[in-house]
Order: sequence, then structure tokens, then C-alpha cells
Amino acid sequence: MNIPLSSYPRIVIIGGGFGGISLAKKLSKKEVQVVLIDKNNYHTFQPLLYQVSTGGLEPDSIAYPLRKVLIGYDNFYFRLAEVENIDPFSKKINTSIGELNYDYLVVATGSETNFFGNKEIEQNAMSMKSIPQSLNLRSLILENFEQALLTDDYHERDALMNFVIVGGGPTGVELAGALAEIKKGILPKDYPDLDTRRAQINIVQGGDCLLPGFSAQASKKAEDFLEKLGVQVWKGVRVTGYNGKTVTTKTELKFEAATVVWAAGVKGAGIKGLEGEGVIAGGNRLNVNEFNQVIGYPEIFAIGDIACMTTKENPYGHPMVAQPAIQQGKLLGQNLTKLLEHKPMEPFVYNDKGSMATVGRNKAVCDIKGYRFQGVFAWFVWMFVHLFFLIGFRNRMVVFVNWVYNYIRFDREARLIIRPFKRDYSQFKD
Ligand SMILES: Cc1cc2nc3c(=O)[nH]c(=O)nc-3n(C[C@H](O)[C@H](O)[C@H](O)COP(=O)(O)OP(=O)(O)OC[C@H]3O[C@@H](n4cnc5c(N)ncnc54)[C@H](O)[C@@H]3O)c2cc1C
Repeated sequence: MNIPLSSYPRIVIIGGGFGGISLAKKLSKKEVQVVLIDKNNYHTFQPLLYQVSTGGLEPDSIAYPLRKVLIGYDNFYFRLAEVENIDPFSKKINTSIGELNYDYLVVATGSETNFFGNKEIEQNAMSMKSIPQSLNLRSLILENFEQALLTDDYHERDALMNFVIVGGGPTGVELAGALAEIKKGILPKDYPDLDTRRAQINIVQGGDCLLPGFSAQASKKAEDFLEKLGVQVWKGVRVTGYNGKTVTTKTELKFEAATVVWAAGVKGAGIKGLEGEGVIAGGNRLNVNEFNQVIGYPEIFAIGDIACMTTKENPYGHPMVAQPAIQQGKLLGQNLTKLLEHKPMEPFVYNDKGSMATVGRNKAVCDIKGYRFQGVFAWFVWMFVHLFFLIGFRNRMVVFVNWVYNYIRFDREARLIIRPFKRDYSQFKD
């Protein structure tokens, strides 16, 4: 990997997500050598992926070059590589570009879509965990409408215009809201020769409410917002399969749909090599102690989505959202310095800043530190918070300008099929 030997201890960080970056920033100007490894050369701001999928934003406005994050940091190295496995006994990682020894290793690999072992759904449904996946979804949505224009068969045309979003968490709710706005404001203009009023947006939630984890008030309001936008909300319905044409559920309910988005679960993006009793927690996360040390491996730490730190308040680990990753990254930066100075480390205490989700234009729900509010003000708060946490001044400006433009013009100009998504349409023909 051509990383020079150093008299300083080497800290290897796997993953330049929210956790990895906040840790790297804390380690700048410290007497350590830092190697950041990521399979992408950019950081992804996942909370806005749904806007890429729905043509509201260009992908480069929510991505940030990882090398730029490290500019000006002495003794920092970035390598573009996928880490394949960890050998904790020789303190070495194996990657797609070679192996590397470490003194301390931090696993900050985030999470991936969890299909709960259902191969059929995995093969046919769309995920939205990365920029390439969001671009695939954007292409598929547009291609389906182009295809709908070409058929005289009503049944086939309806299926091509139907959307099923599986999962009623923030991702599902935000995507459903955005699709409903496209249906209302954009499709009739773009496809005047197609009866786009027949397009259906369904959100299917296994549990009995949308936005589980939010207050009952926020959950109810999000459902009201979606219904006003014309989204069909199905609660208490578990999806069991999708063969690329028909979505089946545990009930009699079935959907014929060409676009199915699986937003019903995530699991830790684990790396092989860390084994032993109590290491792997539920959802493929790594069990860590209060200092984010992986159980049984004192030189290996895990932060963010991949880490499962159980506490009285969070018996199944912290929520898999950005704040625990950012806060754990910052504290681990301080703790690694303390560890090297033989000082006691500080335990992690999560500062829950609340939750928010937007359902569309002027519509959002916020639960922040005991304050619950919904509607226009919540929407402005949502926009401000997302702009604040986006990485890079240019990205903030581009996103802000896009949002103002989209708001004034009722538009989403990035509805482009730049990289077509290959779909076999023959299955939709009777
Ligand atoms: C669609 C969507 C919407 C979301 N909305 C919100 C929201 O509104 N608010 C919120 O707080 N959270 C939201 N989240 C969750 C939030 O994005 C995650 O909790 C957060 O990104 C976790 O940070 P992390 O540092 O643990 O991992 P990530 O940010 O996922 O970063 C992991 C990094 O590791 C890299 N990586 C993974 N495996 C390897 C490997 N083997 N080798 C090399 N590199 C690797 C990846 O390329 C990635 O850069 C959303 C997530 C999604 C998918």
C-alpha cells in the first residue's frame, strides 16, 4: 500500500462516513499516523439520497471527496480500497490493494440493506443505501414511465406506473412524499400523453405505525401528510416476496408494480475476521464496550452504525443514524489520544438531539428534546439541519440553490437517465 513507516503509532480507520470523518478530524495534529481506507473516494450524505433518486439533487451535491477532508493534515494517508478481512492476531488487514499492519484499528463501515435472507426480494427490489443505487432508482423510475407510453395494455401500464415502498421509517416516508410530489407536479407536464393520475404510490409498513421511534404525534401527522398527498398507507402488512412483477404480502393484499423500493431494514456492514463469543450482536453489528472497543479485541474499535453499544436507555444499541456515529467518532479521537498517553478513557454517553423527517414541500415532523412540531416550521428546521451537516461549502450552496429553485418553480430538473438501469420488461406483458 506504500504507506511509509513512522515512529508514531498507526491508526487505521475503515470507512469515511460520518463516524470515520469525525474521528479523522479529531486526530489531526496528534502524534499518530492515520490511514483512512474507503471503497469509495467520497463521503456520502445518505439522508439526501432520496432526493437524488427523485431528481431533486445531482449526486455530486451530496458527495464529498475524502482526500479533500484530509488536506492539511500531517501524517494522514487515504487509500481507495475495499477491506476484505481483519487478522487481529497479526494486527493486519487484507484489502483489495494489499495488506496493512495497524497499531489500532477503527471499524466505521456503516450498514447495508437487510433483506432478512429473502433472495427473491434482494434480486428484484431496489435499495437506496449508496449513490449508485440511488442513480439506478432514478433511472428505473424514468424508464418505467417511458415504457408505460409504449403499451396499449392498461394492466401493464398501471404496473409500470405503480410504486411500492416497503418500510415506513424516515427513508420510506421521505421517498413516498417526494414521489407523490413528482406525480402531482411533474409527471402531468412531462407525459401529457399518459394518464399519470393512475400512478399509485404505496407505502407498506409491517408495524402498526409509520416512523416508529418518533412520537405518536409525529407518526400520525406524517401519515396525514402522506394521505393528503395521495399516498396509500398500508400498516400491519408484511411483504413476503417480489418476483419483479408482483409484490406478495402475508395477507391477501398484492401489488403489481415495476418499482419496489426496499427500505425495511439495515444491518451492520461487517468485515470477516472478528469472531468469538459475544463479538457479533443482532443485525450483524459489532458488540462494543462503553469506549467503543470491540469485545475481546482491545486494539480494535467500532463506531457508528456497525457498533452495538448496549446501555439502559438503548438495550439494542444506539439508533443507526448519523448522530451516534459523529459523537462516537469525536470521543474516540480524544480517547485514542488518552490511551496513547496512558490516561483513562472516557465512556461514551449519547446526546440524543432528536429526530426529524420531511414528507414534502412545507411538510415535516420534528421531535427535538421534548419539543414536537410539524408543518412549515418543522420543514425549515429540517432544511437548516441538513444544510448544516452537509460536508463542504460548495455542496451546501448547490443544495440550497437547488431547493430554492425547486420550491419556486415546482420542479426537479435532475430527472435524467444518464446511466440506464437494465430491466427485463417482458415479465409485465400478460
Ligand atoms: C436513505 C437513507 C436516509 C437516511 N436518513 C438519515 C437521516 O435523515 N438522519 C440521520 O441521522 N441518519 C440518516 N440515515 C442514517 C445515516 O446515514 C447513518 O446512520 C450514518 O451514515 C452512519 O454513519 P457511519 O459512519 O456509521 O457509516 P456510513 O456513513 O455509512 O459510512 C461507512 C463508510 O464505510 C465505507 N465502507 C463500508 N465497508 C467498507 C469496506 N469493507 N472497505 C472499505 N470501505 C468500506 C463506505 O463506503 C462508507 O463510506 C439515513 C441512511 C440512509 C441510507
